[in-house]
Amino acid sequence: MPSPTASSFQGQKIVIIGAGLAGTLCAIMLVQRGARVELIERQDFETGADYGNRRSFNLTISSRGAAVLEAAGLWPRIKARTIPITGRMCHDGRGIQKFPYGRDESFALHGCRRTDVNAELVAAAREYESLTLRSGYTLDGIDKRNGAVTISPVAGGASETITDADFTIGADGVYSTMRRLIHRGERADFNQHFLDWNYREVFIPAGSDPDHPWVMDPNALHIWPRGDLMMFALPNPDGSFTGNFIYPSDRETDFQVPGLMGDLFRREFADVAGLLASPEETLKATPPSYFPTQRNTKWYHGDRFVLLGDAAHATVPFYGQGMNSAFESTAELIRCLEAVEPAARAKAFATYQAKRKPNTDTIADLSMTNFEELRSNFKHVMPKARRRAEVVLSRLFPKHFVPLHVQISHSLTDYRQAVDDCARRDRMLRWCGLDLLILGFAAIDLVSRGFARLSTAPAADFSDLSSAMGETAETSFGLAPGDSMERRA
Ligand code: FAD
Repeated sequence: MPSPTASSFQGQKIVIIGAGLAGTLCAIMLVQRGARVELIERQDFETGADYGNRRSFNLTISSRGAAVLEAAGLWPRIKARTIPITGRMCHDGRGIQKFPYGRDESFALHGCRRTDVNAELVAAAREYESLTLRSGYTLDGIDKRNGAVTISPVAGGASETITDADFTIGADGVYSTMRRLIHRGERADFNQHFLDWNYREVFIPAGSDPDHPWVMDPNALHIWPRGDLMMFALPNPDGSFTGNFIYPSDRETDFQVPGLMGDLFRREFADVAGLLASPEETLKATPPSYFPTQRNTKWYHGDRFVLLGDAAHATVPFYGQGMNSAFESTAELIRCLEAVEPAARAKAFATYQAKRKPNTDTIADLSMTNFEELRSNFKHVMPKARRRAEVVLSRLFPKHFVPLHVQISHSLTDYRQAVDDCARRDRMLRWCGLDLLILGFAAIDLVSRGFARLSTAPAADFSDLSSAMGETAETSFGLAPGDSMERRA
């Protein structure tokens, strides 16, 4: 591990609640800068007891996340736990087709199990003497007057109060206790919105060939677009795949009707069902999970408590940016703290929120739009046509026309800035006939659909155009705006 290179936090003790992705990375970056860190985690890493009922979904790391990990000297060891995802593989019911993310491997995303990334970060954290990891403890309370933090063992036992911390970071995830405690008695807006869809994990086991255990392309995000139903799957290093079956939340009770959801799954996702011993059992193996978006107006209290990651800005995963954005927030928080004397910490917290919130609100909006577009695009030609126009423009003018989703997944430009830049550019292009180009593609699409309907043979329709052109990079685990469900990447 790199030894501490700076001493900007020398002599400070910092408590972090939550040894998830952002909390553990933040702990490492702070000890690298001279701080002493006490990292408190509800799960018991020693016994494996999972008090948070965590699921082990997969995710993709894009440029933003990789850049922060690189700066912390952690990217090589995290990257070693990932699989390059070079495109998306669409199982549209008529066939399977791969859409590369870009012209070369540099556009690959890095697919991994969330638990693997977390385990690697925790292993790295354990290598620092000045970092104390206390797993199996939960946050009970905070004292806003003196900055004290009370924790207690989840398995039972006496609580204890930490009184010597300079400040405490709440990185305790989407249903953050720290956020609730900070907001208590304050003038703080908090908004939580759930999608009308739930998801369940679908574990697809490895095949029997030890030399090539993957039963599908291991370098792809697999997607099964089915209107209101959807499924995605990412590969695991052992040859298995972890998928998410997404369904309208009002169908939750259908899981109680014997055979109903199993039959539906067999009908809609026949190729996956064939890989499972029992779709019913697979679907019942994990509880339903939800898709919340959370926004709040108060990320800190005074100079003693501050929120990080999902605790501050949880978003739905349809742009594949939740963790990537949490890592960017980590880097920003540290930058803001380093820019001031400890006495001005409250100012640093305010600057951190002011810099990050417009960006995290933007990615939350984009992620929601993506989900909506994803569903409607399945039926509509215009967004598809727009996407094709973008492909053409980005190939003709690669320096001047970088699609928004490429800026989100493959650049370090602030989310807000990227959206503003693209809106400005699109306004200009509209003057130059962008809308005509889009209409042209829509017409081609409609004509090709007409021909495909007339033909009995599975025609190569124009939706393959972008792939035939060597399609430019798409987004990460999330879906690019203008992507249809077929284009989930
Ligand atoms: P977490 O990783 O959730 O960590 C919070 C930690 O706090 C946990 O360890 C928890 O046990 C602990 N904790 C909670 N309460 C307490 C307490 N009271 N006391 C002590 N400890 C506590 N992001 C991407 O960038 N790319 C993707 O492709 C992607 N795909 C996703 C797919 C799905 C299905 C989902 C659900 C999310 C996806 N995300 C993705 C989002 C990403 O997982 C989150 O944004 C990320 O995990 C946030 O990190 P965090 O550290 O803030 O929270």
